[in-house]
Amino acid sequence: MNASRKGQLVVISGPSGVGKSTILAAVLDRTDTRFSVSATTRHPREGEIDGVDYHFVTTEEFKRAIDNEEVLEWAEYGGHLYGTMRNEVVPILESGVNVILDIENEGAKQVRAAYPDALLVFISPPSLDELARRLHGRGDTSPADVQRRLSVAASQIEEAPYVYDAIVENDELDEAIARVLDILNGQDRTASNL
Ligand code: 5GP
Repeated sequence: MNASRKGQLVVISGPSGVGKSTILAAVLDRTDTRFSVSATTRHPREGEIDGVDYHFVTTEEFKRAIDNEEVLEWAEYGGHLYGTMRNEVVPILESGVNVILDIENEGAKQVRAAYPDALLVFISPPSLDELARRLHGRGDTSPADVQRRLSVAASQIEEAPYVYDAIVENDELDEAIARVLDILNGQDRTASNL
C-alpha cells in the first residue's frame, strides 16, 4: 500500500504539559518536515487559527470524513474528536517530504497499523511530580483539570514503551530537542528505553 512512499512519517506524542509543542516547533524550524494539521470538533482556543493549528469542524463534518475514508486515524479526547486527514499526509509523503503528526496514543497505534515504518516518538516528563508542577505553573488550568490530565498522563506513560520507538525525557529542553533531531536523522534509533 505504501510502496511508493518516500518521506518519513513521524509521530510526536506526550502528555499535556510535557513541553511537546515547544519541541515540535523547534523540530519543524530545523528540519525539512511538514506538520499535519489535524481536524477537531473542539472549539478554537484564544489565538488558534483555523487551518493552521487545526481544521475546526463540526461533528457531522468529522463523521462524514470518516465515512468517506478521508481520515487516516482518529480518536476521542476530552469529549472531542481529533483526526488526521489523509490529504494532509499522503501527498506530502509521496512527494518525498517528511510529515510530523502531533497525536495521542490511540492515534499513534492506528498510525503504526497503517504505516509500520512510521517513527513514533514519545516525550515524557522527568516525573509525574514535575509534570504536576509544570501544569500548575501554567496558571491556565484548574486544580481539577490538572488532576484529570495527570491521571491521563500516568496511563499514557505506562503504555508508552509498548507503543513508541523512542522515549525522550524532557528534563533539559535543549537536550530533548537535540535528541529528537538525532532520532529523526536516524542517528539515534536505539533511543528507546524498551
Ligand atoms: P489539544 O486539544 O490540547 O490541542 O489536544 C488534545 C490531544 O489531542 C493532544 O494529546 C493531541 O496530541 C491530540 N491530538 C491532536 N490532533 C490529533 C489527531 O489528529 N489525532 C489524534 N489521535 N490525536 C490528536
